[in-house]
Amino acid sequence: ASLFAAVEMAPRDPILGLNEQFNADPNPDKVNLGVGVYYDDNGKLPLLKCVTQAEKQLVEAAKPRGYLPIDGIAAYDKAVQGLVFGAESQAVQSGRVATVQALGGTGGLKIGADFLKKLTPQAKVLISDPSWENHRALFENAGFQVGTYPYYDAGRRGIDFDAMLAALRAAEPGTIVVLHACCHNPTGYDLTPAQWEQVIEAIGSRGLVPFLDMAYQGFGEGIAEDGAVIGQFLKAGLPMFVSTSFSKSFSLYGERVGALSVVCSSKEEADRVLSQLKRVIRTNYSNPPTHGAQVVAAVLTTPALRQTWEDELATMRVRIKQMRELLVQKLRAAGVTQDMSFITQQKGIFSYSGLTKEQMQRLRSEFGVYGVDSGRICVAALNTRNIDYVARAIAKVL
Ligand code: PLP
Repeated sequence: ASLFAAVEMAPRDPILGLNEQFNADPNPDKVNLGVGVYYDDNGKLPLLKCVTQAEKQLVEAAKPRGYLPIDGIAAYDKAVQGLVFGAESQAVQSGRVATVQALGGTGGLKIGADFLKKLTPQAKVLISDPSWENHRALFENAGFQVGTYPYYDAGRRGIDFDAMLAALRAAEPGTIVVLHACCHNPTGYDLTPAQWEQVIEAIGSRGLVPFLDMAYQGFGEGIAEDGAVIGQFLKAGLPMFVSTSFSKSFSLYGERVGALSVVCSSKEEADRVLSQLKRVIRTNYSNPPTHGAQVVAAVLTTPALRQTWEDELATMRVRIKQMRELLVQKLRAAGVTQDMSFITQQKGIFSYSGLTKEQMQRLRSEFGVYGVDSGRICVAALNTRNIDYVARAIAKVL
């Protein structure tokens, strides 16, 4: 028999399956709201000016392609630290943050998960219910048992904060808690600073290990506003893990640009942690690729390019907010009487629309409007040309 005779077909990625279904749909009015990316008002993936300008400079100063260090480009890692923790923060200044370049945010999560599995093999992992669909699989594949803490409450269209806090307070010491730093995927609901304080208190007093996933910095209220939670954790003096993704904020999805940062209690400790993170990288893919990180480092550290990036990110953020407001208005205009204003309270590119699985399926089969069965729609895929159609379709299935 063939070596592979017993290999089972792995389950299909539900969102990729949705894309295939969308591509095969002949409906000329079809709209894909199942995606997890930002599209501009023309329905296109943007190519940021700051990126093309940095690339032009890189091409002009063409350099041979040697290997990068295992932990990536030093200037990139430093720029990430500045963005995430603040270059002036005591943690960065004292050298107690270990940062490595990673293959996107997913790569940062995976390096952290593999390192943690060696450090605390018995620990459990808790993710939000619901969460980004890859969190569970990623930590399970790293060898962890993964559970959930309550998060979304469909009844009240928001976060069941009391239940979340109670679950954290009841978690075993050493439990790794994966938290969305901002723009929660898939619900769009974020904690308030006051709620974060309580979460931090619970994590600290219970001896839990916070792992913040930051995939959408700048898509909520602003770069500093969305990153403020990191400062709250720093102030509490807790050890923490932060994964960073530039896929969305630089529209550099395919370049795989991200990072993992680990906040330690001293520089000497951070040096030892860094040596172990490098071991994880070395034994997986040896060292990271050059291009994307070079572009991001150039943009973050060149004042004019940095300004261009911040402006372009603001344009994306403002457009998303406009689409949220417009959707609420158009739903009302299409005759929806229930209060849909929760859509404008959510942050980031996603909205839990509150629609049921049956309603989402009707949207697809009758109108060619594709969202996820959970009710998740990508508001960053709405634009001035498709929003009327989408609003009328939603109004008809509600
Ligand atoms: N974490 C969350 C919450 C995400 O939504 C995503 C992407 O959708 C990622 C991580 C992964 O980002 P990347 O594409 O940079 O690996």
